[in-house]
Amino acid sequence: MRTLVIIIVLALIVMIAKRLWQKPRPPANPGRQPGKMVQCANCGIYIPEQEALSRGDRFYCSQAHLDEDIHNTS
Ligand SMILES: [Zn+2]
Repeated sequence: MRTLVIIIVLALIVMIAKRLWQKPRPPANPGRQPGKMVQCANCGIYIPEQEALSRGDRFYCSQAHLDEDIHNTS
């Protein structure tokens, strides 16, 4: 009988310890992430990457700046 009590007590301790161990973490940064910002290679303004025009590894805020930079670099 005494052994049974010890086993139950041990089981309870293990359960409590496990529950403390597995504390539910808050979900890391749920939802959408802030868009990556890129810099216009012509005027230096920062724009969201999805709105930027890209040519190779360079980004531009507008078609005009893209065209200008092509003329300047080539
Ligand atoms: Zn620009």
